[in-house]
Amino acid sequence: MSTPVEGIETVGVVGAGQMGNGIAHVFAVAGYDVVISDLDQARIDAAMEVIEGNLARQVNRDLLSAEDSAAAMGRITGITDMGGFDKCDLVIEAAAEIEQLKKDIFKKLVEVVPEHAILASNTSSISITRLATVTDRPERFMGIHFMNPVPVMKLVELIRGIATDEPTYDTMRKVVASLGKDAASAEDFPAFIVNRVLVPMINEAVYTLYEGVGTVESIDKALKLGANHPMGPLELADFIGLDTCLAIMNVLHDGLADTKYRPCPLLVKYVEAGWLGRKTDRGFYDYRGDAPVPTR
Ligand code: NAD
Repeated sequence: MSTPVEGIETVGVVGAGQMGNGIAHVFAVAGYDVVISDLDQARIDAAMEVIEGNLARQVNRDLLSAEDSAAAMGRITGITDMGGFDKCDLVIEAAAEIEQLKKDIFKKLVEVVPEHAILASNTSSISITRLATVTDRPERFMGIHFMNPVPVMKLVELIRGIATDEPTYDTMRKVVASLGKDAASAEDFPAFIVNRVLVPMINEAVYTLYEGVGTVESIDKALKLGANHPMGPLELADFIGLDTCLAIMNVLHDGLADTKYRPCPLLVKYVEAGWLGRKTDRGFYDYRGDAPVPTR
């Protein structure tokens, strides 16, 4: 395994949800000290439990030794107060996909992080250039977009804002390599590369359901067997989170001003119901029983 990158020893992660806990996991395994925050201790405790479970799965599959897993766990500190980011060389924001929330987080971060620290966002779609404007260091600000589940997926999209400087970009490329992952560079346009292509496909699958062309089961089966996708689009939407899918469609719709990106009203309805997919146990499938059951 590569050693951590020079100058980057302690990494902060804001938000201990499904992406934040995965990001903390891979940095800790790679040998970085990690500080992860969320709004309350219960969410931190839940994230620690998830990380421990995911590390154990890697040990069971012989991908990691028990000693390395224990050492990784020991490198992660959970906090509920942003003040704990004061020793970080890099902080990655992975809170919900809401622009104002992210801006408020970055405004608070610049008050506590060291002057040299790089700030980054794991946003799926929001403009890196716009987020950077609320900080005191747009030249040391980047998009670093991990894929879900973070410990498994190889790709990381790296997005430069208009002001991002080359040393910052180089450092982040090295950081991605040190995690054993591969970077693809994307320009700072709505949803970058992966989600510009993927999420409109999911939205179209929801329209296909909405218009009665297929059922949840037949749509997922069609894409799995007909296009060789490992997961059907509705199953994938539940996995990503329907709130995140809707937020990305709204960013595409607003940012590119093209009606082809209009979010499907059925997707909106699921989000309004609080049926956000796996994280709330219900979305296009109901996960409360032993096996997922389609909800339509
Ligand atoms: P999530 O809802 O699972 O987690 C978000 C977490 O942020 C929650 O635990 C919430 O309590 C916490 N949070 C909210 N405000 C906070 C604050 N002020 N300080 C600290 N924590 C705060 O969401 P997620 O799926 O992990 O997504 C997080 C980000 O990653 C979003 O920007 C999303 O677009 C992006 N992303 C998601 C995926 C995916 O497949 N879900 C993939 C790539 C990127």
